[in-house]
Amino acid sequence: MKSDEYRAAREQMVAEQLIAKGIKDQRLLKIFREIPRHLFVDSFMEHLAYKEYPLPIGFNQTISQPYIIALMLEYLQVEPENTVLEIGTGSGYQTALLANLGKTVYTVEYISELSLKAQSILLKLGIANVRFKIGDGALGWSEFAPFDRIIVSACGEFIPHQLIYQLKENGRLVMPIKKESYQVLILGVKHNNRLIQRKIKECEFVPLITTNKKQN
Ligand code: SAH
Repeated sequence: MKSDEYRAAREQMVAEQLIAKGIKDQRLLKIFREIPRHLFVDSFMEHLAYKEYPLPIGFNQTISQPYIIALMLEYLQVEPENTVLEIGTGSGYQTALLANLGKTVYTVEYISELSLKAQSILLKLGIANVRFKIGDGALGWSEFAPFDRIIVSACGEFIPHQLIYQLKENGRLVMPIKKESYQVLILGVKHNNRLIQRKIKECEFVPLITTNKKQN
């Protein structure tokens, strides 16, 4: 496909998958029209990049479907002056969106190959306000804490304590949490050092890899 065909595919994605399903934030819709999602998947899958489903990115991981990323970002409400901590860099697609919405993005990925690949794509796109780390994101990134926003792209059994601790007062956190037989996307807002939580929607994410089982 040629670049104008990809642009048309992005317009169609925004109209049919995001606006049609209730995503309203204009800043968000603009960024989805701009970021070339097809560059974040293997070249033999490029023609599927703007479809309504997640795609494999290797190592048993997936790039999330456009709508679920838009939904998470709409609840996260990233302001231009915000610092954002992202857990699960994966392909780097959501990282690129976040980098355009906020001031600085700190992104942590467990699988080094995925992080390195994401780093090279963002470099090619000229996105320079992102710091990458390879490691267990459940521990956060204390060196740069506290953060205005935290987004977790893999499903855990609870919200890691370190992430709540590293979130600013009035900061927002979005993360999928596993219940008995399903997952639910949670929005947390920090008030008086406590995270006030509400459910957004049922969802389906890959599991958060855990190295510290004694956290809860
Ligand atoms: N937003 C990404 C989603 C990738 S899937 C995208 O659209 O491409 C979730 C990612 O979280 C995977 O890359 C997985 O390796 C990573 N992950 C899982 N557990 C993690 C952990 N404990 N710390 C950091 N990254 C983790």
